[in-house]
Amino acid sequence: MNEQIARGLPPIDDEYRGPCWWHLSRLVDVTRRPGMRRIALVGLSVNAVAVVTGIMEVVWGWSALPIRVGPFELAVTIYPPFILSLLAAVWLGPTWGLVPAYTANLAGALVSGLDPVPAVLFALAGALEVLIFWGAMVTLNIDPDLKRRPDFVRFVGVSIIAPTTASLAILIRNSAQGLSLADGRLLWMGWVIGDVLQALLVVVPLLYFTGPSVRAWIDRQFATPPRYEVTYTRAAIIAATTFALIAMLTFLGIYMLEDSLDLDPLTLTRSGELLLPRLRDMEFFVVMLVVVLTLTTGLFSTVLGRMGERQRGLSRRESLTGCFNRRAFYELFPREVERARRLGQGLSLVFLDIDHFKRINDRFGHEVGDRVLQQLAARLQGTVRETDLLFRWGGEEFVILLGHTSAADAPTLAERVRAAVASRPFLDGDYPGPVPVTVSVGTTGTTRYPVDPDGLIARADAACYRAKAAGRNRVEADAA
Ligand code: GH3
Ligand code: MG
Ligand code: MG
Repeated sequence: MNEQIARGLPPIDDEYRGPCWWHLSRLVDVTRRPGMRRIALVGLSVNAVAVVTGIMEVVWGWSALPIRVGPFELAVTIYPPFILSLLAAVWLGPTWGLVPAYTANLAGALVSGLDPVPAVLFALAGALEVLIFWGAMVTLNIDPDLKRRPDFVRFVGVSIIAPTTASLAILIRNSAQGLSLADGRLLWMGWVIGDVLQALLVVVPLLYFTGPSVRAWIDRQFATPPRYEVTYTRAAIIAATTFALIAMLTFLGIYMLEDSLDLDPLTLTRSGELLLPRLRDMEFFVVMLVVVLTLTTGLFSTVLGRMGERQRGLSRRESLTGCFNRRAFYELFPREVERARRLGQGLSLVFLDIDHFKRINDRFGHEVGDRVLQQLAARLQGTVRETDLLFRWGGEEFVILLGHTSAADAPTLAERVRAAVASRPFLDGDYPGPVPVTVSVGTTGTTRYPVDPDGLIARADAACYRAKAAGRNRVEADAA
């Protein structure tokens, strides 16, 4: 049987490796799980420190500190809430970062004397920046541990784009405070350069050196480990929110900027036209341009994303039973290994082969055999846990990958599966009547990493072979 194991199938490098997806709503468990209490405490502390340091930035004037680089006069803003909320978003999930980013920005803006309305709007920029960071990491599949070179290079790119885009909101602040153009430019530059430097000099080393252990700790606090699945709907919601925020901040910024110019309504251009209506026209077009650009970019990227997702989904499924196919096994395997390693619970695999399936085919025909396979797949899917992955490995062979199950626990699940198959005949109440089916099952598992997928399959397959030899309709565990 071992020679049937597929080798040479290239691993496909599209498994999701981006930042975390924990939603704040996971905190409903807070009273029941000590892990959730610890996470809640961390979330609150991050938020509190972000707000306090956000206020300190204003009070102690960490804004637009001048630095000279050769002939250039640059400005740098030091803003700890940015670092904190970015790390929270990457390690825990977007909402965990958006909340401290927004509240810290709002507190700082109010303390600096900004009126409540512009302050509420201005503070959106902090949340927007975190959202762009996080969304780009999802879209570009950037692994937050930054261990691979492409991850590092992409993160550097995002570190430049996100602050630049979000800092558009400085227009609101400048105009609301009636700053001069030069002062406004300095503030803007301080924001962009400051955040780029903080991302590169502080966030990158933290992600690289402390990321793996921090993420392992976080995962251990949750009852069910994260799957890091990017779905089209979630991605579309996040993209739409980002675009709406960018468009709104641009619109408000330009609108308020014009207000702050405080022009005489009768000011004329040299050709004798009224200046204000001309300016409004231009603003209108600029804003429309931003809206159209962001919407079309968003539309095309979500459509492309959806196409890619559907295609990946199809190429991972096998058409008769709808189970994952072998190719999907090699694609999903590294992710499951990574999860198992971080959770420290081991990874197990179950190999299952129908007993005397040839007889069913011979007796009732291939078509009936196919329907048995379909029903079997459905029954297996109904028996395994949500976190287990079911693959159709070959003709009448199935593999179940148990993401966080020790080798010692795998036979329990395997026995449940075996019993579920043997308990009721198949095609009952249907042509050609009840067909009893049994399966032989082999299990194996490991806690040693890295794991060779083919080695694991071979061991479970060998155990399954022993179950056949011992009389079929039984479970055998790998001795090793
Ligand atoms: P055992 O495993 O208990 O030793 O006996 P078996 O009869 O199941 O033996 P074997 O694994 O050699 O035979 C598998 C059979 O499964 C052979 C093949 O005709 C049948 N088969 C494989 N793929 C399909 C399929 O997609 N549809 C149908 N109907 N039959 C299939
Ligand atoms: Mg077989
Ligand atoms: Mg068989």
